[in-house]
Amino acid sequence: MKDCIFCKIVKGEIPCSKVYEDDKVLAFNDINPEAPVHVLIVPKTHVQSIMDLKEDEYQLIGHVFKVTSKIAKDLKVDEKGFRIVNNIGEDGGQTVPHVHFHLLGGRALQWPPG
Ligand code: 5GP
Ligand code: ZN
Repeated sequence: MKDCIFCKIVKGEIPCSKVYEDDKVLAFNDINPEAPVHVLIVPKTHVQSIMDLKEDEYQLIGHVFKVTSKIAKDLKVDEKGFRIVNNIGEDGGQTVPHVHFHLLGGRALQWPPG
């Protein structure tokens, strides 16, 4: 989608520090990391949030989780643990309206979130 930051990153129009890529998803380091490991896993197709997925797009989220577990292993946060976060809408704290999942790890994370 035109003017979407993550679509521009997917198209290579904005550079990123790539962690993983396949035909369905791109994963890259967050520009403003909140933990030693902070990776964003982004479906390549533009969907605003999980609330806008079409019936045949839910499988994409399963794929995102598969990729996230691979990245967690590669970045060695699988043994101590990590967190997957998906912010939705204004109250959820979503700032980029293109569905994405945060992989946060490398330190003990607090709970509950603010
Ligand atoms: P949200 O707040 O929507 O859940 O997460 C958006 C995330 O995207 C934020 O953590 C923010 O730091 C990150 N972000 C925003 N713009 C860019 C960018 O141009 N490049 C990268 N790598 N991350 C970005
Ligand atoms: Zn987009």
